[in-house]
Amino acid sequence: MDFTWNEEQRSFRESLCAFLDKTLPDDWEKFSQHGPASPALTAYAAKFCRELADQGMLFPHWPVEHGGQGLSPWHQQILAEVMWEYGEPRGGQYMNVNWIGPTLMRYGTDAQQANYLPKIATGEMLWCQGFSEPDSGSDLASLRTRAVLEGDHYRVNGQKIWTSYAGLADTCFLLTRTSDDKKRGITILLVPMDTPGITVRQIPSLIGEGDIHEVFFDDVIVPVGQRFGEEGQAWEIIGFSLTNERLGIPRYHLARTALDRAVAMLKDNGYWSCDLIKAEAGRCAALCEAARTANYAIVQKRAEGLKVGAESSSARFATVMAERAVCEFVVEYLPEALVDASPYLKMHHQRGIVAGIAAGAAEIQLNIIATDVLELPREPR
Ligand SMILES: Cc1cc2nc3c(=O)[nH]c(=O)nc-3n(C[C@H](O)[C@H](O)[C@H](O)COP(=O)(O)OP(=O)(O)OC[C@H]3O[C@@H](n4cnc5c(N)ncnc54)[C@H](O)[C@@H]3O)c2cc1C
Repeated sequence: MDFTWNEEQRSFRESLCAFLDKTLPDDWEKFSQHGPASPALTAYAAKFCRELADQGMLFPHWPVEHGGQGLSPWHQQILAEVMWEYGEPRGGQYMNVNWIGPTLMRYGTDAQQANYLPKIATGEMLWCQGFSEPDSGSDLASLRTRAVLEGDHYRVNGQKIWTSYAGLADTCFLLTRTSDDKKRGITILLVPMDTPGITVRQIPSLIGEGDIHEVFFDDVIVPVGQRFGEEGQAWEIIGFSLTNERLGIPRYHLARTALDRAVAMLKDNGYWSCDLIKAEAGRCAALCEAARTANYAIVQKRAEGLKVGAESSSARFATVMAERAVCEFVVEYLPEALVDASPYLKMHHQRGIVAGIAAGAAEIQLNIIATDVLELPREPR
């Protein structure tokens, strides 16, 4: 098996890097310390995404009929790797490109596609994902935010938590309960965040300013036309979305880039002669490359049009292990990097510490591996 990029892929990567080198501000690494969802980065991301769209590089892997170039999942992976290598200047808009856009294309009505896809395509829209609730995280199907049909609209009451980007988002991709059937009673509504009755409260967090929030819904009125899919279809739709979300962030590549930078700093400050540090760095590199291989196997399946199953959980878990190992390596051997010495390593640390929680807890991936890969019984005997 040969994992080297072909000529065309290499040139695609190089043109992306050249664009980023030319476009990002000189103080980008310090600037990106504001956090991925801060007002400063969100405003910059909107400008950056417009420029990326002008170059035809915001979503080259989307189908031609939706404004993309119909390029392969490998191009999507290269795009994501390059963006994360540079510290993800798309801010929260990475979600649009990775899973919100593709989900709209697959399940949206003509009116929803016509309304949202052009705004995503020009880098104008920021979404938030209203899934988790105070008592429903890993057990998402227990969610209780209620949407009651009243003629031509739904009345929504309930609370979401940990909602990234909610403070500045235009629209919420909201999971609501429309019946008591645990999974088939969940319905998606696309809700403008300025709808009366929505209150957003920021939760201070290590990942950065403005990242996570509580969102309260008090008698929020949502027209039936804003329902996404059929009533009760949410579980099927988010199954599709979450596979895209989990694999859309190439954290193994971010971790590997952070590791390379840490090693370069250790060489500069003379600590690289220590055998223990070398061995630990080697262990981290092996974990990053194992995670990369697991992710690439899935990209290849996608490129061949094959269905991706539980192996996405193995890839995600391998990626979390790589991220955590690099975070611990830096804490142990280069702690000064997390104060001021390296804005990049600080950014990696802020994102790395939540890698096994955000987008679903790592332990849940292990459960899926146990049942669907190892075929162990679901319940203890
Ligand atoms: C930075 C960040 C951003 C986030 N952004 C969003 C967002 O935009 N939108 C959104 O909806 N949510 C978001 N989340 C929430 C995230 O999806 C949840 O935190 C995650 O699903 C875990 O749910 P929980 O926090 O309720 O923890 P719990 O489900 O209560 O889990 C707590 C612990 O128990 C373990 N556990 C739980 N159930 C099991 C089980 N069956 N087997 C083994 N172990 C188990 C978990 O692994 C975990 O260690 C975000 C979280 C973070 C940290």
